[in-house]
Amino acid sequence: MKNEESPFTQSATHPALQRTHRVLILGGTGEALRLAEHLSQRSDLAVVSSLAGRVDQPTIPAGEVRIGGFGGVASLIEYLVTHGVDIVIDATHPFAAKISSHAELACRRVSIPLIALERPAWRPQQGDRWVPVPTFESAALLADQLGNRVFLSIGRQELDAFSECSKAWFLIRTIDKPTAPLPQRSRLILSRGPFQLGEERLMLRQEAITHIVSKNSGGTATQSKIEAARELGIEVIMVERPAVARSNSYTTVDHVYSRLEQLLRGHMASQLDSPEIKRL
Ligand code: NAP
Repeated sequence: MKNEESPFTQSATHPALQRTHRVLILGGTGEALRLAEHLSQRSDLAVVSSLAGRVDQPTIPAGEVRIGGFGGVASLIEYLVTHGVDIVIDATHPFAAKISSHAELACRRVSIPLIALERPAWRPQQGDRWVPVPTFESAALLADQLGNRVFLSIGRQELDAFSECSKAWFLIRTIDKPTAPLPQRSRLILSRGPFQLGEERLMLRQEAITHIVSKNSGGTATQSKIEAARELGIEVIMVERPAVARSNSYTTVDHVYSRLEQLLRGHMASQLDSPEIKRL
């Protein structure tokens, strides 16, 4: 009788194919944490999460973790090869354009499949008063010109663009203490999200905020301030995302799981076709 089993079913039972596949998750986001939590429970996968090390006390993903830059594209390639990585998942922040383009280049160079997760950008809704700007420098110029009391919530890496602002007053919120000099008229609060709508609304009211500067990060972790701004009619200077040249990308964690399954099935099917396996 003809064997009707799919390559996937065969592979599950074929002892020669019972090896784990190594998955590298480029992380730093809530989605990356969810992926690591879920995938590290699977016995057919060996999962390593990579963090840039941007915050002093990062939330550590489940499973194996490495922290720090790879040292550029060539070193990322070396890492992928020496660690036998089979699949890379780029679940980095939408503003982390450099590591995403490095991942694209490296994976293409060594023909390793890359699954990029790109959460959708926020879109203005009725009641939103957004001024889109392309860079942090243009956001700083505009905020200083327009703003009376500005809530600056962009993380600490890009704060140096605002160092020279002198007219507006800034309430700056970051997770860790910034290293860049702060605008002369400012106050710093150190706090880690996610933040609830109620607390954002209260803070914006109490501080009499007139403008917000935000990255268009998308997702839910930092969207309360955008919702609160909509309710209170506060203008948002919205820094648009940097462009990343991607061959393809997926918008949700579930889409990433599906694509991963597809790749694993394809990978195992190709192994079933390999001369070594056919000889067994
Ligand atoms: P980036 O500009 O894309 O990356 C700069 C360098 O950091 C990369 O070239 C790489 O160093 C290293 N790197 C970044 N992500 C890495 C990862 N997951 N694993 C290992 N190395 C990584 O990103 P960024 O400088 O971290 O951040 C740019 C923007 O993204 C900022 O606005 C920041 O607030 C935002 N953001 C970043 C993260 C994050 O986890 N990175 C999280 C939230 C928000 P090598 O070239 O040496 O490999």
